[in-house]
Amino acid sequence: MRKTLRKLVLDLFGTFAKPARGVHILNGHYLSRTNGQAGVFQAQLSSLQKMCRLIRIEEAVSLIVNQAKVNEPLVAFTFDDGFEECATGIAPVLESFNINAAFFINPNFIDGDSAYRDDFLTNIVDTPIKRPMTWEQIGELHKRGHVIGSHALDHVRLLMDDPAILNLQLQKSRQIIEAKINAPCEYFAYPFGGMHDLSDTALALARKQYKYIFSQSDHRHNVSFGGAVINRRHFEPYWPVSHVNYFLSVKKS
Ligand SMILES: [Zn+2]
Repeated sequence: MRKTLRKLVLDLFGTFAKPARGVHILNGHYLSRTNGQAGVFQAQLSSLQKMCRLIRIEEAVSLIVNQAKVNEPLVAFTFDDGFEECATGIAPVLESFNINAAFFINPNFIDGDSAYRDDFLTNIVDTPIKRPMTWEQIGELHKRGHVIGSHALDHVRLLMDDPAILNLQLQKSRQIIEAKINAPCEYFAYPFGGMHDLSDTALALARKQYKYIFSQSDHRHNVSFGGAVINRRHFEPYWPVSHVNYFLSVKKS
């Protein structure tokens, strides 16, 4: 019931909502929880493009980091968890709009055996039938101008202070990705992405290992943690455009 009411409110307000000026980074995961079609994302971007300018993720990051004054709504994209449809469905749609995205991946999900993957899908990200991208697909995305970032080695909540575990999750994942794409890995999105999903020690270590760190929270502010973390707003490609518009209409500071 509460969900239906929320949807009605979003439909109503979203129909009249206008995206606010500023840089919006939208973070999604898949075309749908089950078997999504790329067409839904194509349609969503076609509608969004009428109200916002779609930009590359590096441009969005640079504008935020340099605190640039932005007088129009700008939208860039990232995707977490590295599902296969990022390569087969999502990236081609982004490319047809002449933009890219940052894809945040977990190396152990890609290299894991079926028991590891089942646990990852069922107990951690709650999308039972997905598959990870292969390293070949990830290498291709990199060559086509997308950004490949780390989402930690495993999809774990980085609340611990143990330097051995944190080094594995933060440094090792970066090293694996860099060896696979043969380029620096400078972007890190910590798993779960909430304001309370990262310990101070993990943040300090992440800042040493990566140039840019991303949450999926506190979207009203461009940055959090004293400027150390860039905030993203959750969305999914299959959401109605009215809902996305409503979220984009929130004034940012
Ligand atoms: Zn995730």
